[in-house]
Amino acid sequence: WVMTAPPPPAPKHRGASARANTYRSIYPLRILGMGLGLWVTCSVLIQTGDLARFGWVSLITMVLWPHLAYLHARTSRDPYRAEVRNLLIDSAIVGLWIPLMHFNLLPCVVLAVITTHDKFGTGIKRLWLYSLPGMVGMAVLGTLVLRPEPVLASSLPVIIATLPVIALHSLAVSFTSYRLIRTVARQNQQLKELRQRDAQTGLFARAHWQEQAQAVLEGARSSDRPAWLLMIDIDHFKPINDVHGHTVGDEAIRVVGEVIRESVREADCAGRYGGDEFAVVCADTDEAHALAIAQRIRERIAALRLPELPELQLTSSIGMAQAQSSHLTLRDWLNTADMAMYRAKHGGRNRVAVEPRGSQPHAAEGRPVLG
Ligand code: GH3
Ligand code: MG
Repeated sequence: WVMTAPPPPAPKHRGASARANTYRSIYPLRILGMGLGLWVTCSVLIQTGDLARFGWVSLITMVLWPHLAYLHARTSRDPYRAEVRNLLIDSAIVGLWIPLMHFNLLPCVVLAVITTHDKFGTGIKRLWLYSLPGMVGMAVLGTLVLRPEPVLASSLPVIIATLPVIALHSLAVSFTSYRLIRTVARQNQQLKELRQRDAQTGLFARAHWQEQAQAVLEGARSSDRPAWLLMIDIDHFKPINDVHGHTVGDEAIRVVGEVIRESVREADCAGRYGGDEFAVVCADTDEAHALAIAQRIRERIAALRLPELPELQLTSSIGMAQAQSSHLTLRDWLNTADMAMYRAKHGGRNRVAVEPRGSQPHAAEGRPVLG
């Protein structure tokens, strides 16, 4: 019943120093929890007429113990393990108080439940279970030694002393859960965004890009608004790796990704399709605009210079395909754009080719749109 104890643990996932400092964060919470417990136990001792006999037990367990626990952990070679032992002793103390309080139902149940609940709250595997033998053992031992007469009903002072424990603990648990839920929601969002992005280029990763492209294809098929797919492949990229090494190759892919990101419009969806291949879908776009985007990308890639290798010239071949009713799946649309891209390669690279062929005079097969 180190009330409000926030989850210290996930022992395996926390840094060693954070783990070792667990006892520091628990110290004030133990002082608070046990401090409230002092009023509960004293009020029961008054009700049962045992204050003179057992008041000292209240002082030792509720006032002195939090400081002893702190010193024990601080001076221990392994403060984390020492603090886990302290948490188990907390439960044993509550166990001892069950016969000392003559099984007075309200405080006994509240203290036992809260103490066990806090073991769950630490996140330490099975700590709650390991705490039970100590609590039950001390309760049985205390019963055998003291043979207390059961006093199940609580006096009004006992109820008044117990209420703050219940109220504060419930609020603390609610607050901790709230923070936890907010953190998990934020991390889920970050995880989702990370999964959507290609780490090297910052463009959409293939799977997410495919989902977007699929939606654009379906939109184009169910309306008469044109949509275009651009497949972009870096020319002669393998030799760059072979001659200059993979680090230069990686950097080239990164800057090409950057150029593509900066060359498309906000509504366009640009992704890394794989290796040195990139893809862009442009919804609600006519051929002239799609071509302008492709030209811009091609020109900017050709103008790129890597600071560490200024003599290296990168070029790209771009295949463009308009969404057609014959494209039943995204794969069909990709195949058509791929065909255009290979025409651009075979036509001499560093150029744009368009499918369907001849849809614009300057985009006919083999004729570079630019370059
Ligand atoms: P082409 O002009 O016909 O496209 O010739 P190419 O040499 O570019 O051939 P291709 O596109 O098939 O080669 C792609 C190469 O890109 C193969 C692979 O070794 C390399 N590659 C793929 N991903 C990466 C990457 O992330 N980093 C690096 N450094 N190389 C990559
Ligand atoms: Mg290539």
